[in-house]
Amino acid sequence: MVSRTIPVDPFDLVIFGGTGDLARRKILPGLFRRFCAGQMPANARIIGAARSELDSDGYREMIREAIAEFGGAQAQDNPDLEPFLEQLEYVAIDAKGTGGWEELAKIMEGTDRIEAYYFSVGPSLFGDLAERLQKYGMADKRARIVVEKPFGRDLETARALNATLAEYFNEDQIYRIDHYLGKETVQNLMAVRFGNMLFEPLWNSQYVDHIQITVAETVGVGGRGEYYDKSGAMRDMVQNHLMQLLCLIAMEPPAQFAPDAVRDEKLKVIRALDPVPPHHVVRGQYEAEPGNEEENPSYRDAVNDPRSRTESFIALRAQVSNWRWAGTPFYLRTGKRMVARSSEITVVFKDTPHSIFGDEAGRHRNVLSIRLQPNEGITLGVTIKEPGPGGMRLIDVPLDMSFAEALNPDDIEHVDAYERLIMDVIRGNQTLFMRGDEVEAAWAWTDPIIEGWQSRNDVPKPYDHGSAGPTASAEMLRREGREWRHVTP
Ligand code: NAD
Repeated sequence: MVSRTIPVDPFDLVIFGGTGDLARRKILPGLFRRFCAGQMPANARIIGAARSELDSDGYREMIREAIAEFGGAQAQDNPDLEPFLEQLEYVAIDAKGTGGWEELAKIMEGTDRIEAYYFSVGPSLFGDLAERLQKYGMADKRARIVVEKPFGRDLETARALNATLAEYFNEDQIYRIDHYLGKETVQNLMAVRFGNMLFEPLWNSQYVDHIQITVAETVGVGGRGEYYDKSGAMRDMVQNHLMQLLCLIAMEPPAQFAPDAVRDEKLKVIRALDPVPPHHVVRGQYEAEPGNEEENPSYRDAVNDPRSRTESFIALRAQVSNWRWAGTPFYLRTGKRMVARSSEITVVFKDTPHSIFGDEAGRHRNVLSIRLQPNEGITLGVTIKEPGPGGMRLIDVPLDMSFAEALNPDDIEHVDAYERLIMDVIRGNQTLFMRGDEVEAAWAWTDPIIEGWQSRNDVPKPYDHGSAGPTASAEMLRREGREWRHVTP
């Protein structure tokens, strides 16, 4: 592989919650890949800090196993593993008490490297961690904190959390993660939009009929039932991930690809969103898999509440009311236990104003499809003549803009969203992180929608295991003469 990786400056990264699921599955395997790629300097330190009583050797063993399990093929029998593990340390810490803090402060004392603190713990501990970082002398101007989702559960709690963090850190020290923004294709979307002359003149309501954003999962709530039932698809997925995707699709070109220039434009999109009336929202709950109810129970059984009204699926029609998008609906949908795992943004262009080929040739629309997972890539459906004799029949063919087609696969370095974002933290680049006002604006739009269905005592509609959601979701688009794209793996 030809590596174009530039090593980052020396850093110390403290991972609060360093023994947790996210740290073991994503953060540490990701850091290991950056180490293998030569991006982590040899004197960088990674300090796990969590509740478990472990010493550094015990932590290295835990992470060795985590990398073997979650690190993919590259992790197996890799000679870089031992030197990587040597860069790990561990401190047992009590986020709510005093245990471990002096020890951590001592480790962090007297260095002039970059200091980053990853809050990979439940949000109820964010304030405690921030307060103690300051109390023990670690919240100086060099410190950066990385905050996981969920960032609040409504506008009020998000504001309170922002205010708490602002007591100890400036906004330019706070990195609110939305790992969707770290995906290769999401950045490629910006390159396609703003690096080509071709698309931007058409990128508006005059030429775009509508836009769809789908994030479909095949998994159910699994072991997260208790947490999920208090949250639901709107809070868990729409307020953050789908909103971020919508912003990148809808925003005006920023003057530069720089943190505040990009985030200012995203904020304007969120603020231009209309309130969503009830008939533009469909909520659903999955049913059990027939014949396999034990393994794949219904949503209500999975969360152990036969009267739960939390949605495991939501579809809604959003409208960005500004000069560019007036009249072009944005249809968003996300759900669990759907027919396939697929995240896709689709820009459906309008019909040509007049068909010169007659009715038999059919009418075709250009569709730009941006796939985030699986099979990341971008394709543009173009209409051509069906080859061969038999008159002028039109067919749609995909113009594939996936990098794999155009570039030598050996030259592509695959970087997972988390590892990219952590390296951005170390580089001090906030472009792909959410600013506090963005998060608040997203909640300000989301809250009335949630309050609306709560005040109506709305009951989510059941949908079949392995389907595309409740039929009412398809109905919502059909009323407007449109249809959802098939959810395909
Ligand atoms: P987890 O329950 O697996 O791990 C929690 C970690 O926090 C453990 O290391 C635990 O020791 C530590 N901890 C808990 N209480 C503590 C205390 N009082 N003092 C010190 N340490 C304490 O959780 P997780 O799944 O790793 O999630 C961590 C955060 O990341 C959460 O905010 C979660 O919402 C978010 N998140 C997780 C995922 C994921 O895939 N797991 C995805 C997105 C966001």
